[in-house]
Amino acid sequence: MAHDTDPDTTPTPLALPGTGDWLAWITDRGRDQLAEARRLVEELKASPPTGALAVLERWNDTQVAIGHAQALGLWAEVHPDEQVRTRADEVGQEVQKLVTDLGLDRALYAVFAGLDPAGLDADATRELEHTLRDFRRAGVDRDDTSRARLRELSEQAVTLSQDFGRHIRDDVRSVRLAPERLAGLPDDYRAAHPADDDQLVTITTDYPDLVPFMTFGADGEARHELSLAAANVAWPVNDRVLQDLLAVRRESATLLGYDSWPDYDAEVKMIGTGAAVAEFIDKISGLSRDRAEHELAVLLERKRVDRPDADEVESHDSRHYSELVRREQYDVDGQVVRTYLSFESVRQGLLDVTGRLFGLEWTHVPADEAGTWHPDVASYDVGLGGRRIGRIHLDLHPREGKFKHAAQFDMVAGLGERQLPEGVLVCNFARGLMEHDEVVTLFHEFGHLVHHVLGGQGRWVRFSGVATEWDFVEAPSQMLEEWAWDADVLATFARNPEGETIPAELVAAMRRADHFGKGLYAAHQMSYAARSFWFHAQQSDDLTAFGDELQERYSVFPPLEGGHMQCAFGHLDGYGSGYYTYMWSLVIAKDLFSAFDRDDMFAPEVARSYRDRVLAMGGRKDAADLVADFLGRPYSFDSWAAWLQEE
Ligand SMILES: [Zn+2]
Repeated sequence: MAHDTDPDTTPTPLALPGTGDWLAWITDRGRDQLAEARRLVEELKASPPTGALAVLERWNDTQVAIGHAQALGLWAEVHPDEQVRTRADEVGQEVQKLVTDLGLDRALYAVFAGLDPAGLDADATRELEHTLRDFRRAGVDRDDTSRARLRELSEQAVTLSQDFGRHIRDDVRSVRLAPERLAGLPDDYRAAHPADDDQLVTITTDYPDLVPFMTFGADGEARHELSLAAANVAWPVNDRVLQDLLAVRRESATLLGYDSWPDYDAEVKMIGTGAAVAEFIDKISGLSRDRAEHELAVLLERKRVDRPDADEVESHDSRHYSELVRREQYDVDGQVVRTYLSFESVRQGLLDVTGRLFGLEWTHVPADEAGTWHPDVASYDVGLGGRRIGRIHLDLHPREGKFKHAAQFDMVAGLGERQLPEGVLVCNFARGLMEHDEVVTLFHEFGHLVHHVLGGQGRWVRFSGVATEWDFVEAPSQMLEEWAWDADVLATFARNPEGETIPAELVAAMRRADHFGKGLYAAHQMSYAARSFWFHAQQSDDLTAFGDELQERYSVFPPLEGGHMQCAFGHLDGYGSGYYTYMWSLVIAKDLFSAFDRDDMFAPEVARSYRDRVLAMGGRKDAADLVADFLGRPYSFDSWAAWLQEE
């Protein structure tokens, strides 16, 4: 379908190679964009243009070029040809090196530090402030000795991170059990785990083995043995690595002039300070305590049906008895639910729902025109008011060598009329019927995609799309999940092969079942968030003991004796002191959702206001201000607290 707008002001999509030579394309594009970035930096240092705005624009151009090279990382995750994936990884390493070098480049920093901000508009002022902040956080203004040490620490941190992750990936533990101890597990699981010559079955700590066992396994002692194996992954080797990593972060924060790593880390987040993280953990913990205790009592009652003498519920009971309570007391059969959720109708339904909600038009782009990397990829142009504002690509099914989780990847950062935003959803859904969980995941990830496109209409690439605070970025996606739980919304696309719409009573039962366990979940999440925060905030020679102490304080489940979960808790590396962020985003998501009418999820006025005041703004304002602009008041915990009590 033609887009009847002036071609001079409408940017064109990125020309992808399609059936052509991807290896050459990625190689050339990576080389050219990095060369362009280096050229612009040299020019900025040697002969900066006159005036702050002109300098910032040149820097923006540099960031655009770096961003183009960085975005090639997408194909390291999705391209079917291993050679192409490897090349994309190599480009990524080069980009990282350039970014580190620029962050510590004093001559470059001097160009920005000397600028007079007078006369800059709000966006440009913010661009300058954030640029100076980035340099300062990299340590560019420290003395020579400190900078040399910071560079050393940064290299150590990279190696320690890689070690920490590799030790977890490589250390698969297992238990060997007599076949009858697999009681309760589905037939296909038991068939996939036959007994060996010793008449024993091996169950590993890999998720596809572990999760069903902890959910369906009826033998409590077997669940205990397996969870103990899982809580010993990478022990003891990672205990030392973690201590070293924490020491590197402490020293870096000190050299950079912060009181602690959490203060350094939280400075660029919505939450602001390390102290606020500690407060948040206590607040969520306090709000969820009663519900968690109540749910714990329900689990204990159910456990006593199996073991009348039981006097406590342990962490390895939690998943199992929660599942039994949901099945027995809420009467939801996942096998029936999925008959209404065929992949094709869900995908179309999602486009229709988001189109209606945000006033977007989706136009399918044929594969030969889109030039994508695999026949599974479906591409759409995004229209708003008759104008093309972006292009999206949905790569939703598993294949060998492809990214294993679900995520949105930026392909091109949008710059209004200069550069068309393009984003990619990478997921791993079955081709036939979907689980409702998967539908929720699809809505969630699609929320990032819509944010990327709508937020890609400004001038500064730094603020384009989802370029907002890390503890806010999940909120729009968590909020969009609500539409996948609404009976009226589901009725627009969820139909079984007989053409019957999913019954509203079934959706209501699904929601009730989903509500069970929220208190337990919140409390237990806070025991993880507390480890992530306090391990960074306070030095301890015994992380196992410190972790157990935090678990006793925050979770309703007792610590697992003999376990050392910190060694296998990969997020201690990736999230650092900020594991609270997921729950923080959820608090904000519930607050944002409070502005919508649950009886009329498509009410246009509120949806358009949200689109324009939050999503379309990208990172142009602090997230707290975006939320306040939309809600007409500062954010609050009230909606989250009310949601927590819902039955
Ligand atoms: Zn997300």
